[in-house]
Amino acid sequence: MIEDKTPQRTSIAQLGEFGLIDHLTKNFEITQPSTLKGIGDDAAVLDFKEKKVIVSTDLLIEGVHFDLAYMPLKHLGYKAVVVNVSDICAMNARPTQITVSIAVSNRFPLEALEELYEGIAHAAQEYKVDVIGGDTTSSQKGLIISITALGEAEEDEIVYRNGAKKTDLLIVTGDIGAAYMGLQVLEREKQVFQVNPNSQPDLDAYTYLIERQLKPEARKDVRTLLHALEIKPTAMIDISDGLSSEIMHLCKQSGVGCNLYEDKLPIDPQFINVCEEFNIDSTTVAINGGEDYELLFTIAMDDFEKIKGNPNFSIIGHMTQESEGIHLITRANTKIPLKARGWDAISE
Ligand code: ADP
Ligand code: MG
Repeated sequence: MIEDKTPQRTSIAQLGEFGLIDHLTKNFEITQPSTLKGIGDDAAVLDFKEKKVIVSTDLLIEGVHFDLAYMPLKHLGYKAVVVNVSDICAMNARPTQITVSIAVSNRFPLEALEELYEGIAHAAQEYKVDVIGGDTTSSQKGLIISITALGEAEEDEIVYRNGAKKTDLLIVTGDIGAAYMGLQVLEREKQVFQVNPNSQPDLDAYTYLIERQLKPEARKDVRTLLHALEIKPTAMIDISDGLSSEIMHLCKQSGVGCNLYEDKLPIDPQFINVCEEFNIDSTTVAINGGEDYELLFTIAMDDFEKIKGNPNFSIIGHMTQESEGIHLITRANTKIPLKARGWDAISE
């Protein structure tokens, strides 16, 4: 007998709007003490007591921010949560709740939305955030996802973009550039697949890069790590649009300049190999590629001893007077002005 391998396709129209919402949200559990009421009423009810509340929101549009040709829906759901949680972490706050709104066309069967919600649920669990509501509506064509994340912090813990001082050290977490090269690999495979749908790509040499693109993580650990080191950053931002453009934001908002050192940039060996394969300059990608969701922050020079040699952090430069400008100091010791060539959704 021939096994039927066709995946099940249940039309969402069959369920109706309320049936769909119910089906997608029935397994969400409330774990945060600040969530008094989650899904199920006209609005959620939260109680943060004496804490400050941090709110951030993001909109993801199919064809602009993601391509379902290589982005599995489960990963998309996970990543949509991560990018929002990352913004809360970038304020040095603790993520607590999210809302999830979706617009879907009837080209998506129920099973596709189940996959998306599997990813959302996985991320919610991983980051310990409660899914407390959202909205569900139809779209003419593509998929649209909007997530709002909430977090909490004591007032004096919150770190803004505008607090960097002129002699502060510039630090980045993890490594950078890999997510961008992961995207290049996936784009290339997509084109190969369009020419030859039977091709079986061997992606072993690219696993780290692809994972950084398809399953990024938010640095929720940094708040705890810095707390343990007794360091409070003077300014912080997450790297969604590329190091260069985020440095420009920090400098502009803080009224300082910056020297960034090429030889200090943390990059992964796999990243270097693949840049060579694609014949792209690794420094250019490390500085301008986006979507790494690492944190970039400044600390007072007095905190140097506390952070030096820590494998979670790389000291990549120092701030200067605003009038000195923003520069990259290359390996050859030349000083070139940094340009924000980060990924810009508007110009895409
Ligand atoms: P309303 O008519 O007030 O917009 P809905 O019927 O859309 O309410 O939503 C019912 C409940 O389900 C609300 O608590 C809402 O926040 C939640 N909800 C709706 N859509 C989603 C979704 N896509 N994900 C999570 N929760 C949702
Ligand atoms: Mg609604």
